[in-house]
Amino acid sequence: MVRIEGKIGDVTLNAETGFVESVTLEDGRSFGAELFVDCSGFRGLLIEGALKSGYEDWTHWLPCDRAVAMPCENAGEPTPYTRSTAREAGWQWRIPLQHRTGNGYVYCSQFLDDDKAADLLASRLDGKALGDPRSLRFTTGRRKQHWNKNVVAVGLSSGFLEPLESTSIHLIQANISKLIALFPDKDFDPATIAEFNRISTIETERIRDFIILHYKLMQRDDAELWRYCAAMEVPETLQLKIDHFRRYGRLVAREMDLFAPASWLAVHIGQLNYPERLEPLMAHRGVDARDWLDKLRGAMEREAQTMPGHAQFIQRLIG
Ligand SMILES: Cc1cc2nc3c(=O)[nH]c(=O)nc-3n(C[C@H](O)[C@H](O)[C@H](O)COP(=O)(O)OP(=O)(O)OC[C@H]3O[C@@H](n4cnc5c(N)ncnc54)[C@H](O)[C@@H]3O)c2cc1C
Repeated sequence: MVRIEGKIGDVTLNAETGFVESVTLEDGRSFGAELFVDCSGFRGLLIEGALKSGYEDWTHWLPCDRAVAMPCENAGEPTPYTRSTAREAGWQWRIPLQHRTGNGYVYCSQFLDDDKAADLLASRLDGKALGDPRSLRFTTGRRKQHWNKNVVAVGLSSGFLEPLESTSIHLIQANISKLIALFPDKDFDPATIAEFNRISTIETERIRDFIILHYKLMQRDDAELWRYCAAMEVPETLQLKIDHFRRYGRLVAREMDLFAPASWLAVHIGQLNYPERLEPLMAHRGVDARDWLDKLRGAMEREAQTMPGHAQFIQRLIG
């Protein structure tokens, strides 16, 4: 294997097939290949720039299109989890690391301007800011074809889902695994390409629906973003899940859903989408889980008391 570094300046397509034939670096060197993997990030140099595969924009369901990040000094004991907090025009992340805390505000530019977002984030840090705010822009959605002709898009070149559930790296791995499982020969069988695209569409849409659920069920109505989300229509695949849960607490399972029923349950209940009725069989048997759940909570609390704190645990790990 040979690794070559350089910036691609030009892409040549085969005049007959429209397949990518070669890429030319800015220094003039040209490289031909049979299969190309586009990892060029948001630009999608080959999949979009050269092959015009098209982009399905999901901003109407996931309106956040900006993020500003700003690390700060740690303050107090680190928590063993990432915290996501709903804000006026999006949500704020807080990720405690060993030597600093990562923070960011993901927001919708329609309802908040960049300077104000950076100011709000800076005013909500746990400790002293470390460095200036860094801004990112994105359009939530997916490339209409992740695999087009002899180009397979992996990573941001295949689309972007806002980072509420940190799914980007999972989707990178998912496309790599699919490419290995469906590796083409020189004929590039259209059925192979179609199967790759079918699976990647389903995988992405399931995650999309799960993220939309957080917004759709949000109870606050004190800002434009949240009023918009409460009123918006959601994809049918998600509406069906919301309806079934609301009626009888049923979790409708779907193939290739990255998020297991326990995760869906956590968001429904966490966002106060309580079932209107008991599932009929449960109602018939008169099951009351409160006693059992109380015992479980007590056992967990007792167990937690015997464990080291998070900082202590990390210290033990790193010696
Ligand atoms: C603050 C932050 C937190 C994140 N947290 C998480 C997380 O917790 N979990 C998670 O799953 N994901 C997370 N992500 C997202 C994840 O990091 C990205 O999705 C991933 O790194 C994208 O990788 P990529 O290779 O597709 O794109 P990129 O990292 O953007 O790489 C694209 C590369 O293509 C190169 N390139 C572009 N044009 C050319 C050209 N003409 N010639 C040659 N090279 C070119 C660029 O130089 C670049 O190196 C986070 C992102 C950020 C910013």
